[in-house]
Amino acid sequence: MFNVEKIRKDFPILSRKVNGKPLVYFDNAATSQTPQQVIDAIVNYYHNYNANIHRGVHTLSQEATDLYEQSRQKIQKHFHAKFSHEIIFTSGTTHGINLVANGFTSILKKGDDIIVSALEHHSNIVPWQMLCERTGANLKVIPMNNEGELVMSEYEKLLSKNTKLVFVNHISNALGTINPIEYIIEKAHDIGAAVLIDGAQACPHIKPDVQALDVDFYVASAHKMCGPTGVGILYGKEAWLKKLPPYQGGGEMIAEVTFEKTTYADLPHKFEAGTPNIAGGIVFGAAIDYMNNIGFDAIAKYENELLEYATEKLLQIDSLKIYGTAKNKTSVISFNLKGIHPYDVGSILDKLGIAVRTGHHCAQPIMDYYKIPGTIRASFAFYNTKAEIDALVAGVKKAKMMLS
Ligand code: PMP
Repeated sequence: MFNVEKIRKDFPILSRKVNGKPLVYFDNAATSQTPQQVIDAIVNYYHNYNANIHRGVHTLSQEATDLYEQSRQKIQKHFHAKFSHEIIFTSGTTHGINLVANGFTSILKKGDDIIVSALEHHSNIVPWQMLCERTGANLKVIPMNNEGELVMSEYEKLLSKNTKLVFVNHISNALGTINPIEYIIEKAHDIGAAVLIDGAQACPHIKPDVQALDVDFYVASAHKMCGPTGVGILYGKEAWLKKLPPYQGGGEMIAEVTFEKTTYADLPHKFEAGTPNIAGGIVFGAAIDYMNNIGFDAIAKYENELLEYATEKLLQIDSLKIYGTAKNKTSVISFNLKGIHPYDVGSILDKLGIAVRTGHHCAQPIMDYYKIPGTIRASFAFYNTKAEIDALVAGVKKAKMMLS
């Protein structure tokens, strides 16, 4: 039985006040809150194991190394990767995408095509534009429709023998649309193109199986999954990771260094130059344990209830429009009140202790499609409640009254 009141007790921040009102945190798509179990794991690391990893002969270093590598194995299991060396620790989704984009510099040729979607976060657009500048490859875009879904018939038309790489998000951060990535991957593979999936928004809601998906690269950030900021993972199929050149040079990623020639370390260290975010890597494992203990099926079911409840209640406010009405979506609602700037609504909600995000959500092409400057985005997590949604609805009504 899903007991949200019990779960909420795990999150100390949820009992604080903002502007004199109980905090209602609906900015989960930007970053999730942190349960005590994860905070304890951070403290435990600095109390007991803080040391640099991999090259130490002393006990602390060996213990920290063991914990770090155990966390990698935990993450491997969670994503169902075949090997733990297919999990590269990164500083987050953005880092993972840049690592792959950099690697493709030596693979792409002028005239090759790479395909993105209209629903992307800027971090899954800009690194590829930079790659196109370096290589002369062309960036093609899968268009979206008014519901905020990708148009698959147009995707098929974009695919050709020139297509080398396709990169789309699993779930859109701005609209919540769950994209048909199974189909996208299958079609790309049919013509021999590789696929990178940006899982930043999916991993808080879904447990992806990278082998079942047969995806070439999958990237995620810990801070959207009850973990700390500054750490994430890149999953890559072994063959691809062996093929791509290192992203950064430095300590840890070498086999041997002389001034004449340097050879690189094996996977995963080839992509992990310098001292990593050791505490972050270890604690990412603790965050994954926390979420798995609740269970992703239970999380998805409960969040879906919140989504349906909030959608119904918000739509009762006349002049409120929801953007992104895909049949398949997660607990994100992007909306506007007619004639009112989203920022003004967000500021009034903040005075009421309600945290939402306003603006373009790092997805300007989506806002351009709808010809709007931005939206108000409420994104729900498994620790939110229907009572909090009632507070949001009341707050939006109040904002509407004050600003009309
Ligand atoms: N992609 C998507 C879909 C996202 O929502 C985000 C974070 N808002 C990112 C990429 C970037 O993640 P990070 O800032 O953790 O690197």
